[in-house]
Amino acid sequence: MSAERPVDLLMRTVVDAGLCTRCGTCVGACPEGVLSIPDPTGACLPAAGEGCTSCGLCLAACPGAQLAFEPFERELFGDAPSHGLLGVVRSAWIAHASDPGVRRGGASGGVVTALLLDSLRRGETGGAALFAPHEREPWRGWGRIARSGEEIRAAAQSRYHLSPLNTVLGEAASSGTPLAYAGLPCQIHGLRRLERAGWRPRSPLRPVVGVYCGNNLYFAGTAAVMRKLGVRRLADVERIAYREGEWPGSFSVRTRDGRERSVPKLHFNQAIPFYINRRCLFCVDLANELADVSVGDGWMKEGSGGGGWSVALVRSETGERAWRETIASKAVVAEEISVEDAARMHGHAFDLKKRGSFLRLDLWRRFGCAVPRYDRRPPREPFGRRAGEILVSAQFALASSKAGRLIFAALPLGATGRLFASLRAVWMRRSSRGPGGA
Ligand SMILES: Cc1cc2nc3c(=O)[nH]c(=O)nc-3n(C[C@H](O)[C@H](O)[C@H](O)COP(=O)(O)OP(=O)(O)OC[C@H]3O[C@@H](n4cnc5c(N)ncnc54)[C@H](O)[C@@H]3O)c2cc1C
Ligand code: SF4
Ligand code: SF4
Ligand code: SF4
Repeated sequence: MSAERPVDLLMRTVVDAGLCTRCGTCVGACPEGVLSIPDPTGACLPAAGEGCTSCGLCLAACPGAQLAFEPFERELFGDAPSHGLLGVVRSAWIAHASDPGVRRGGASGGVVTALLLDSLRRGETGGAALFAPHEREPWRGWGRIARSGEEIRAAAQSRYHLSPLNTVLGEAASSGTPLAYAGLPCQIHGLRRLERAGWRPRSPLRPVVGVYCGNNLYFAGTAAVMRKLGVRRLADVERIAYREGEWPGSFSVRTRDGRERSVPKLHFNQAIPFYINRRCLFCVDLANELADVSVGDGWMKEGSGGGGWSVALVRSETGERAWRETIASKAVVAEEISVEDAARMHGHAFDLKKRGSFLRLDLWRRFGCAVPRYDRRPPREPFGRRAGEILVSAQFALASSKAGRLIFAALPLGATGRLFASLRAVWMRRSSRGPGGA
């Protein structure tokens, strides 16, 4: 009997097992162009075509079924100690872009865009590999190489739908000029694994800027919210922004007839239980622990007025250099904060990913389901917290069923949005008492 080909193993143990994060690394890694994502606004899963040479790169790079953080931390960050919630942190900052347009155009403080723009301006990079609005289908994002300041600015803000950014790695590998990179934790896990597997682009991707990630949704979540706003046909959409206007911003859709419709971002979040990628329920990385610099919402400044703020964690020497130079060239306004302050402002999200994810991994494993493996140790949890997680898991399972989504379609957006925003406020208050205080 012939041995199973690596690509078949990938399909069986990751894709068919429900462990695909949709990072797109396998597609971007394949030197033969065998893999593609035929349905990016649907299941968004990789599919294999003809011509596989069994080189094994797709399987070696895939972060879907397993990830060991520690070897990467040692390799990328040296001996610096790792914080239990944030990963290795050299310094933590609360910051925003100095340019008011970049700040206003960003998801939080426009810091990712400011970093990428400043690296380009200094001539250290010739652009960035990132997730940007698609040229012909402006309602969705796609992986592309932005080579001008204008293209980097156009990619600003978060797109809360499945995002196989790393399909761009094939093109990035042949870039004659160095490129920066911006992506989600699982995308950077894939990139790091690919580098370790011997992938050698003509110029390395540096700095690797990571955005925080609590979870991600099927594009159907965006479509469902748009339908509630009265937008029924994608072809009518001219522009979508998930974080438009005053921070934390609004989900806003402009149609070709010039009409603009929007709903506060925190109300958009009500789509999460109904449309979350199930793999995200098992993800243990909120703060993008393998990035050179990680950037998330700077919630400690929420309600302070005057525009958005980001939290930035500097992890590696490469990140330190890029960050210090961005400060020195006055592209960002930044104030150093303690690592504990950085952890505290995301207590609610750490509760989801550093406590809840481990409990769910254990629970689903007991039911015989395939779950990813990590080298992070689960914290000890009291009975009440473990019992609570059974309810949370049941709620996710019910909400994402066909019936759950029908109920979501019938719910009034405004009233349930307010309910969701209030629940989040309570969760944030309780969890801000300390990393273990949720
Ligand atoms: C799916 C998702 C979930 C997130 N969850 C959280 C969370 O729970 N807590 C938190 O604090 N922050 C979260 N973030 C990050 C947050 O929304 C902001 O991206 C972050 O604060 C940086 O804001 P900024 O203004 O500095 O960046 P900006 O200047 O707005 O730049 C954002 C960069 O992110 C890239 N990007 C946008 N969407 C995607 C995507 N889907 N995949 C890959 N790259 C993308 C863009 O290309 C752009 O370069 C999430 C982001 C995403 C996309
Ligand atoms: S050629 Fe290599 S990377 Fe491409 S599908 Fe086959 S094993 Fe995977
Ligand atoms: S590399 Fe990413 S997109 Fe490909 S199978 Fe693995 S998790 Fe899915
Ligand atoms: S929660 Fe994890 S797996 Fe899901 S999109 Fe974010 S980084 Fe990827």
